[in-house]
Amino acid sequence: MGFLAGKRALIVGVASERSIAWGIAQAMSRQGASLAFTYQSERLGDRVREMVSEFGSPPCLPMDVADDDEIIRMYSALSADWPSVDIVVHSVAYAPREQLAGSYLDSVTREGFRIAHDISSYSFAALAKYGRPLLSGQAALLTLSYLGAVRAIPHYNVMGPAKASLEANVRFMAAELGAAGVRVNGISAGPIKTLAAAGISGFRQLMQAAAAHTPIRRNVTIDDVGNAAAFLCSDLAAGITGEVIYVDGGYRNVGMLLDDTTTAGE
Ligand code: NAD
Repeated sequence: MGFLAGKRALIVGVASERSIAWGIAQAMSRQGASLAFTYQSERLGDRVREMVSEFGSPPCLPMDVADDDEIIRMYSALSADWPSVDIVVHSVAYAPREQLAGSYLDSVTREGFRIAHDISSYSFAALAKYGRPLLSGQAALLTLSYLGAVRAIPHYNVMGPAKASLEANVRFMAAELGAAGVRVNGISAGPIKTLAAAGISGFRQLMQAAAAHTPIRRNVTIDDVGNAAAFLCSDLAAGITGEVIYVDGGYRNVGMLLDDTTTAGE
């Protein structure tokens, strides 16, 4: 029996088989969780419905997080199938493409800043706010962040401030919901080739640079993130809340790596 047996997990953010949310869904299912899914729009609906059919007929509901009414409608529809929710995974981010190229100050606009923060940060609070009545007494909420929250990364631009806001959300939500038995955490993942990542200019170089400077000498995978997510949302992690855990192969923790073959060049 897996360590998520009996848990109901709502997964928000599946767009393709490369999605981090998909890796999380697979890992949670391996550990015995029942799953429900949302999809952003009908453009993605057929693909997501077909993908999730491997889990039987899980609830699979439309929800654009830009609209509070859609969030409320999604929870209302979900409550017809599920009396309560134990896990909510928020694996959603968006900024207009032109925000993620060139320099930060050249690209940032008031509207780009607003959209990035709305979709990538506020939506996590909104999922908790409107989902609160359905959350069980040992629920766990999880979001996905990136190093750009705490370090300047080329072309990540406005998503950096948006992820910093998201990580602050983790702490504020954890402080508030802890009394009700609800934990809130984030995973800061290393770079992974996904649809969202493809929108970041120079992402291929970023992945190559990360692999070369990562203690485990490779980029992380959606399975690496999925397994950590399953643990964090399980009762095994009952003492962890308000945290952002790095699943980045150790990248954040090194200033420099020298391979045996590397010389100082003197
Ligand atoms: P992805 O493109 O597979 O997933 C992004 C998801 O966000 C998609 O399912 C998309 O439909 C959803 N989304 C965007 N706008 C939405 C809206 N208005 N309403 C509802 N859903 C919306 O890409 P991913 O890389 O798996 O991204 C998932 C999360 O992981 C994001 O928060 C991203 O910032 C984070 N992350 C990604 C990486 C990486 O390198 N890929 C690294 C660290 C963190």
